[in-house]
Amino acid sequence: MITRNTGFSNLTAGYLFPEIARRRREYAASHPEAKIISLGIGNTTEPLSKHIAKAMSDYCLGLATPEGYSGYGDEQGNTALREKIADVFYKGMADAGEVFISDGAKCDIARIQTLFGKNVKVAVQDPAYPVYVDGSVVVSAAGCAKADGSGYEGITYLPCTEDNDFFPDLSKIEKNTLIYFCSPNNPTGATATKEQLKKLVDFALANECIIIYDAAYFAFIRDKNLPKSIYEIPGAIKCAIEVNSFSKPAGFTGVRLGWSVVPNELKFADGTPVNKDWNRVMTTLFNGASNIAQAGGLAALDEQGLKDMTEQVDYYLENGKLIKKTLEGENFKKLGVQAYFTGNGPYVWAKFPEKKSWDVFDEILNQCHVVTTPGSGFGPSGESFIRFSSFGHRADIEEACKRLSSFSL
Ligand SMILES: *Cc1c(COP(=O)(O)O)cnc(C)c1O
Repeated sequence: MITRNTGFSNLTAGYLFPEIARRRREYAASHPEAKIISLGIGNTTEPLSKHIAKAMSDYCLGLATPEGYSGYGDEQGNTALREKIADVFYKGMADAGEVFISDGAKCDIARIQTLFGKNVKVAVQDPAYPVYVDGSVVVSAAGCAKADGSGYEGITYLPCTEDNDFFPDLSKIEKNTLIYFCSPNNPTGATATKEQLKKLVDFALANECIIIYDAAYFAFIRDKNLPKSIYEIPGAIKCAIEVNSFSKPAGFTGVRLGWSVVPNELKFADGTPVNKDWNRVMTTLFNGASNIAQAGGLAALDEQGLKDMTEQVDYYLENGKLIKKTLEGENFKKLGVQAYFTGNGPYVWAKFPEKKSWDVFDEILNQCHVVTTPGSGFGPSGESFIRFSSFGHRADIEEACKRLSSFSL
């Protein structure tokens, strides 16, 4: 028989979100009367902008006509969309040839693993979006081996806690390491300043590292002084890939559309442009994003589309404020809870001192019928934290806040 890929046998437990879904199902089965509200998974809830939806619908109907039909498109994406993204988000920082359209940021992060293979060293913010670590373990990057209580062997965890203002100590990273960095961060909400990102870029350049910069929440940044792209930092085109998505700003979580920027100046040790191999990955292992979704992406980037996206993001940010206010209530103060919400991302990150994340998760589910995300699922330094997501209908958020305001331990 064929032996199992050790990458999979090394993976511990389930992926975080299926485990949350399992506990929710179990609770619902034994408490059929409970009206469960989810502040758990970072899934969008608000309807698409009519303008963007109409563009997709028109395009789709066009596909049923001889003149509107198209089959496979360019694997790297529709040229007009690549140009539009370069123009709207990366003026003077990246051109269309460096922008690759995809079916989403998570999918690109998975494909990035094939780009670097198993010999690359890996460093991640701790806590972090689970795909960076789990994806690395699957391909046995860094010789990733089984996890003990403090994470996977082979991966350099960079604790991001209230003690370092959620920005890691970079000196732990070895030369030639692939550094996954997400800002605004999921789950902590921390958004790196220009100075912090400059530190990161300077470190990567000096130590010949490559940064995989996940900017999936760039659209939530409201503070004008905070960088929305890593390419705002001089030198970043020589050391960073930026992964991005329409999922969170446009509600495209189900539509599926993202992009990655791979600058021409980013090179491997032998001088090969990373862009060349990424082009190969996208043409060989991917066959282009849906042309319907790309029509939506184009509409999202015109004047009306950009306005609609800003409104949608504002709605979620308002939810976040309500959750933060609730977590600052007397009942939470008594528990010593500290809630972190920057107003530049969709998550409220709350510390429950001396408690285990999964225990607090279960208690909130039992008492309030609210699903959250246990911080420990994002890495060892997430222990004792709970992530509250601001993706939800306003009425649900208000109801969840009402229930949380009588929570106790
Ligand atoms: C939601 C999310 C993604 C996934 O984006 P898709 O484009 O939907 O695949 C990527 N990175 C982070 C940090 C996310 O929270």
